[in-house]
Parts: sequence; C-alpha cells; structure tokens
Amino acid sequence: MLSYRHSFHAGNHADVLKHTVQSLIITALKEKEKPFLYLDTHAGAGRYQLSGEHAERTGEYLEGIAKLWQRDDIPEALTPYLNAVKAYNSNGTLRFYPGSPLIARQLLREQDSIHLTELHPSDFPLLRGEFQRDTRAKVVREDGYQQLKSQLPPASRRGFILIDPPYELKTDYQAVVKGIQEGYKRFATGVYALWYPVVLRQQIKRMLKDLEATGIRNILQIELAMLPDSDRYGMTASGMIVINPPWKLHAQMQTLLLWLHGVLAPNGTGHTLIEQVVPE
Ligand code: SAM
Repeated sequence: MLSYRHSFHAGNHADVLKHTVQSLIITALKEKEKPFLYLDTHAGAGRYQLSGEHAERTGEYLEGIAKLWQRDDIPEALTPYLNAVKAYNSNGTLRFYPGSPLIARQLLREQDSIHLTELHPSDFPLLRGEFQRDTRAKVVREDGYQQLKSQLPPASRRGFILIDPPYELKTDYQAVVKGIQEGYKRFATGVYALWYPVVLRQQIKRMLKDLEATGIRNILQIELAMLPDSDRYGMTASGMIVINPPWKLHAQMQTLLLWLHGVLAPNGTGHTLIEQVVPE
C-alpha cells in the first residue's frame, strides 16, 4: 500500500520539527572533517511545490514553515535549517519546501555521501531527477528498511540514518523498531533519528517500550504537540527519537522546542517534551 504522498503535508509543524533536528545532527557531524554517510530510508519526492494542488488543499504549511521562515527573531540554531529552506526560495516568496533529502543536499559537504530510498512510483522519479547531477548521491527504488541491513556499517564508519515512514500501515510501528535493531547490530555508533506521529498515544508508548526492550543505549525523545492527546483529531503531535544524539542536541532542542511551540501554537495548546529515555 503506497497511498501516502508527502506533498499534502510538506512544511507542516511535524516537518519543521523533523528538519530542525535533522539539520542540527548534520551540523554537529560536520564538526569533524571525516566524511559520513547520510542514509534516508523513506526519502519522499525531495521538493514540494507549496502552491501545488496537494499543499494548497490541506494548507498545512501555513501552520508550519510559513509562520517562521522570515521572522527576524530566529534562534541561531535554526539558521542551518532555515537557510536550506531559503536556498530553494531565493526570491523571498515561499514557493517550494525542501524535504529531508534536499535539506541534506544543501548541508552536506563534498566528502560526505548520500543514500536515498523511496518506493512510490510517482515520487521516486522526482527524487531521482533532483539528484541526477550530484555525484555524492545514490537514489534507489528499494525498501527503506532493507537498507538498514545492506548499507550499514558505512565505509566511512560515520553515519546519520533518518527513518521517516508514513505509518499508513500499523505494522510500521513494529517495523521501525526491528529496522533500527538490525541497523544497530551492524553499526552501533551511528546516529539514528526516527520520526513518529502522535495519533494514538498508546501506539507511541508501545513503540518506545519495544525500543527500550532491544537494549539499545543512549536514546533521546523530542516531541512537539500542537494539541492535547486525543483519539479524535488525527495527528496532534510529532516527535523524533534519536539514538546516539550529538552531545549538544538535548540543550539545543530544549530551547528550540519552547520557541517553536510559542510560534506554531500561539494559543499555548499542546506541549513540548524532551527526555533521555535510555541513558548512555
Ligand atoms: N523523509 C521525507 C521528508 O522529510 O521530506 C518524507 C518522507 S514521507 C513521510 C514517507 C515516504 O516513504 C513516502 O514518500 C512513501 O512513499 C515512502 N515509503 C513508504 N514505504 C516505504 C518503504 N518500505 N521503503 C521506502 N520508502 C517507503
């Protein structure tokens, strides 16, 4: 089943959180000269047209990136992310939203490598087209979870793995834990970031419990909620679970979460959460 299209949701509050964390991790990894692999298991189309039919229909980006990309009180830690967004909107009008592969492309260096997988028959060619001339990148139409076995450990022994499935299948909540376990078995020092939506809180509690039961150490949970938990309103919050987070990430996100919540949920509904769920 591949009915999910990220173009309906690009630039929403969940993307803002996800891509903020993504950009902070990449920025931290660049502090060392040594190259690293960026592996994006569920990469999407790459670029999303915000004036297109899909984004216009939901208008989700208006409650997300549109609220913050041109503010003049941006915290410094948000700069790499927002500069990447601005690079795709150089005339000052928000027309395109870069997904995780394009944010990575903007932030990675010549010596780093990029491995992207996407299965959707319409999104895959779009993604491949974006990277046609990028010699750092490999774009394949394969199952993202399989990459956690076949691509790890990377030759460079440094890596950042983003796992961002659509969760249209309930089994995704178990598949992500199994996938991470497979990856970690091969490459325990990698940085893994898993995105999750809060639709039913119980699903997330169970997923976290399963992840804790794997014995994996050093797990940070980061969450931004627009509304209180509810089983009636769809996605009320989203989060990132980061394994082996760069040491500054906890402090950076503690500050940024409050700022993002203030801008994106001005009525104060919802919550922020940052917690080391498993110690080092
Ligand atoms: N990571 C992207 C970003 O931040 O811009 C968004 C990705 S979107 C949430 C999830 C994508 O995963 C969809 O484009 C979907 O087609 C793709 N997908 C679903 N199952 C997959 C699988 N098993 N392997 C690879 N891609 C898959």
